[in-house]
Amino acid sequence: MSVSTQVTTDPLSLPVQYIRGIGPKRSAALENVGVRTVFDLFFYVPRRYLDRSAIVTIAQLRRVLQPGGIFDPGTQEAPADVRRDYTVVGEVRSFRVMGMGRKSRFVLVLADQTGSMQCVWFGGVNFWKKAFRIGETLAVSGQPTAFAGVLQFVHPDLDRISPAAAGGGKPDPFTEPEEQEGAPAIDWARTLNTGGLVPLYPSGQELARFGLDSAGFRRTIGSVIRTHLDRVREVLPDSLLAAHGLVPLSDAIRSVHFPHSNAELQRALRRLKYHELFIFQLKLALKRRWVKQQTKGIPFNPKSALARKLVDSLPFQLTRAQVRVIREISGDMESPGPMNRLLQGDVGSGKTIVALVAMLIAVENGYQAVFLAPTEILAEQHYKTLTALLANLPVTIRLLVGAQRTRLRRDVLEDVRAGSARIVVGTHALFEKNVEFGKLGFVVIDEQHRFGVLQRASIRKKGENPDVLVMTATPIPRTLSLTLYGDLDVSIIDELPLHRKPIKTTLADETAKESVYKFVREQVEKGRQAYFVYPLIEESESLDLKAATSHVEYLQRQAFPELRLGLIHGRLPSDEKDRIMEAFVHKDLDILVATTVIEVGIDVPNASIMVIENAERFGLSQLHQLRGRVGRGSDQSYCILLTKKWIATGAGRASRRTSDPLSLDQDRLAEQRLATMASTTDGFKIAEVDLQLRGPGDFFGTRQSGIPQFKVADILTDTHLLDIARADAFGLVDRDPSLRQPEHRVLAEHLRSHFREELSLVQVG
Ligand code: ADP
Ligand code: MG
Repeated sequence: MSVSTQVTTDPLSLPVQYIRGIGPKRSAALENVGVRTVFDLFFYVPRRYLDRSAIVTIAQLRRVLQPGGIFDPGTQEAPADVRRDYTVVGEVRSFRVMGMGRKSRFVLVLADQTGSMQCVWFGGVNFWKKAFRIGETLAVSGQPTAFAGVLQFVHPDLDRISPAAAGGGKPDPFTEPEEQEGAPAIDWARTLNTGGLVPLYPSGQELARFGLDSAGFRRTIGSVIRTHLDRVREVLPDSLLAAHGLVPLSDAIRSVHFPHSNAELQRALRRLKYHELFIFQLKLALKRRWVKQQTKGIPFNPKSALARKLVDSLPFQLTRAQVRVIREISGDMESPGPMNRLLQGDVGSGKTIVALVAMLIAVENGYQAVFLAPTEILAEQHYKTLTALLANLPVTIRLLVGAQRTRLRRDVLEDVRAGSARIVVGTHALFEKNVEFGKLGFVVIDEQHRFGVLQRASIRKKGENPDVLVMTATPIPRTLSLTLYGDLDVSIIDELPLHRKPIKTTLADETAKESVYKFVREQVEKGRQAYFVYPLIEESESLDLKAATSHVEYLQRQAFPELRLGLIHGRLPSDEKDRIMEAFVHKDLDILVATTVIEVGIDVPNASIMVIENAERFGLSQLHQLRGRVGRGSDQSYCILLTKKWIATGAGRASRRTSDPLSLDQDRLAEQRLATMASTTDGFKIAEVDLQLRGPGDFFGTRQSGIPQFKVADILTDTHLLDIARADAFGLVDRDPSLRQPEHRVLAEHLRSHFREELSLVQVG
């Protein structure tokens, strides 16, 4: 039976809106951070913890303030990055408001057997006035200070240990005490704000506005744990729990929110990370299995005279990596299932030829092939490259981009519909409804991460399960590719064409400009060409353009009066762009000044110098892509990164006069990016660093690029756990493809109730 017909039974898929005390507004705010159900709330794990496990007497706390007198209660087991607070348990002796108006403060005197201290709040006086009762017991946590010799906590967090005064029905900012008589030992894992390890939750203005700051989350999650934790069933099969020594799911949930100890916390985290990664991989495994089994693809005959002729006509030999990858692709094409393959290869590794060979196989089999590029300038460039490569083959190729004139466009659309256009190069204009293919059999998607997952699916629908080859020059760290493209097979071109000399990369600051220009002049005299890349800086495009234009004028007049310069940018009409590119290709220009439009794909082997101005403003992957525009011929190539003075030298660090911590941080990051560029040309290494500097969310720019947002697991550091989870998940699906074995019953139910839509096509259980 299919997932979608199943009735949801899991109480944990209850929307949080129906939880008492949450309601529609809070649940809307929660939805924005990915929390929709009770289960999501359980997986809303703390960002970090405060270590409040140092429970001290007031006398001990006083000693903390004495010189060198850090009181160490010996709780060494907290995670390393936690802040350590002290927790005191005492009785309320007195309280009063001091001072007037805006300067008023609320002062509470707390005492235990060893002495007394003050707790002070500035602001909120009217609230605090009514919050306490003389004689009640509180636990308070904070950092001790002394004010005029008086021991204080300023704005401590607190929990009630003995019952508060009756009445007052106001929302309580802290834990209601458990019903208890006398003074039993306190279970610090159950106090929300003090003692033990106290969770800090990711929050934000929006959430805080609805009372969901860290303390609010503690209260809410604490109460949901009380009401719903006992309904959490174990989802993972016993065999996996046993094999990896994982704690039960409900224990892990409780411990991650209210840990008794760091050891317990770490066990809980490990379990939840594994859980998350395993379920993720399981979904991939199920989908992949389903696609392979259910979907009929096209069984191409991989023997292609056209492809043979193309390869024979090339002025170079394919690299071993190219040959291997072509074999992998044609193997997929031959098999009856639909191909879903990712082709990874650094800039300049020769992916285009590989894609063309595959497209020619499709063409020879009577199908059309599509080559999809992320921008118009790239589509045009690819169109030209492919047209040139096809010069001696009887294959019609057409270009479809948004900017075409109506007549031409109608013409192209007709050719595409009739099937006479055998290879179609284009941009997302190809996704439009009125684009119909006669017989689409093969799709190449270049620079996949710029397209959304949905777009990928929509182009596929233009044919009958065409084979899909996704290409990327952004080398993706392995963890990411396993998660991002986990449902794809992967081919890697890990070898650059022979005779390529590694590009020499130099950092230079403004003061070295003259010598950089001189160097460029010398190279041009030797017959080389150069790129100057100029970043878009201003908020407004027109200001940017003005800056770029006046910069070109400056370069022409001051630096290179005897050379021929051209400017190319995204706002130029495409025939103008063409004209300039053409001039550069035909050596009618010595220097091409460009904004980042040349980032990917432009291919002029004679251009061997890349000068990047204001290089500190570019991202690392972007710099790598830009640099990849040179080093394509057999000459020694150079990349010069021009920067503000202090960055290149690293010396300005001390003299930098900014007090803006954010900008200091930006500078530091820029230094790391540039240092990385100077030290390696290995795209994978660069991608790893980039990912570390930027974090996975930013790495691919947008959320819609399909990067999974893990809640507990860390895509950068949990590689090992990911490997285990992946092997387990794929192994499980191999043995029990529909999850019908009794051991997998709860797992199947869990998938059905939580991922119904995602898995709507897959048969589970
Ligand atoms: P990518 O798209 O992977 O960045 P391209 O396919 O644009 O790389 O190839 C870069 C350049 O290298 C092109 O000029 C291409 O003709 C050339 N090239 C491709 N394969 C080889 C090879 N095996 N030997 C020499 N040059 C090659
Ligand atoms: Mg390319």
